[in-house]
Amino acid sequence: MRALCCDGADSARLERGYPEPSPAAGEAVIRPSLAGICNTDLELANGYMGFSGVLGHEFVGIVESCGDSGLVGARVVGEINCPCGSCSLCLSGKGNHCPQRTVLGIMGRDGVFADIFTLPVGNLLVVPDKITDTQAVFTEPLAAAFEIINQVRIGPGDKVATLGDGKLGLLVGQVISLTGCDLVAVGRHPEKLEILAQRGITTALDRDMVSMRSSFDVVVDATGSAKGFALAVELARPCGTIVLKTTTANPAGLDSNRIVIDELTVIGSRCGPFDKALDALENRLVDVEPMVSEIFHFDYGVEAMKRASEGATLKVLMDFN
Ligand SMILES: [Zn+2]
Ligand SMILES: [Zn+2]
Repeated sequence: MRALCCDGADSARLERGYPEPSPAAGEAVIRPSLAGICNTDLELANGYMGFSGVLGHEFVGIVESCGDSGLVGARVVGEINCPCGSCSLCLSGKGNHCPQRTVLGIMGRDGVFADIFTLPVGNLLVVPDKITDTQAVFTEPLAAAFEIINQVRIGPGDKVATLGDGKLGLLVGQVISLTGCDLVAVGRHPEKLEILAQRGITTALDRDMVSMRSSFDVVVDATGSAKGFALAVELARPCGTIVLKTTTANPAGLDSNRIVIDELTVIGSRCGPFDKALDALENRLVDVEPMVSEIFHFDYGVEAMKRASEGATLKVLMDFN
């Protein structure tokens, strides 16, 4: 089968004779219809985490076969963490942190940039008919944005800044705005921030934030760069909260003194609730289509990865049909 792979050292390449996966007990075989390229995929292809295998974790697809015959033919999205189910973290409901877990297209498990792939049936959610494939492919990163409001109580009256106007930053801005808080979405690209401004969200360029130092209750860093964390520390008020939403292949040293002196709370934030993301898409609470920069046919997957790595690009999708 076709598969877009990396070996942890070199950039992504399209293989045509990659062996088809055989599903383990309890797993479904899924044929992706549409897949999204995430910054994590670009970082993995550059050697982050030493991953080798098939890339990709953002998908919507059709169940081709599985033990539960009711699911065959269903249009699904899927949670990307595959926990062991029996360790103490799994038993306490924190399977996303299971030390034995595999993660779709990220850690120990081939991903979705292939003609078929496998996932445990328990990871799958059927996509409501009202949601298009183009919208559904945003479920995973949108769920990650919802994780923030799972972790931090944000509501009317709270002053919040989101940093970053990339793919994840624009989803984070939209999700935080649903809380009714006093939000400023900060970025570097007026044309990208315009997607948020269209939804009535206040936006600002990061160079104009100097006067706003030490004034935000919560600052969310979704910049994907070490500089974002430094800006977040500057913008948070004493005893405020910083949420770190993006990993970076090149973490820089950070000045921890301000965290101590201002008694800041720093929270790491990764994967989130798929059901809330699907609900938001179904009820049009967020707008994801303006974020699609280009759709490539999967045969041009290498070119799609290259396009996704260009600065002006937002979401690049791959079509498998
Ligand atoms: Zn991702
Ligand atoms: Zn476990």
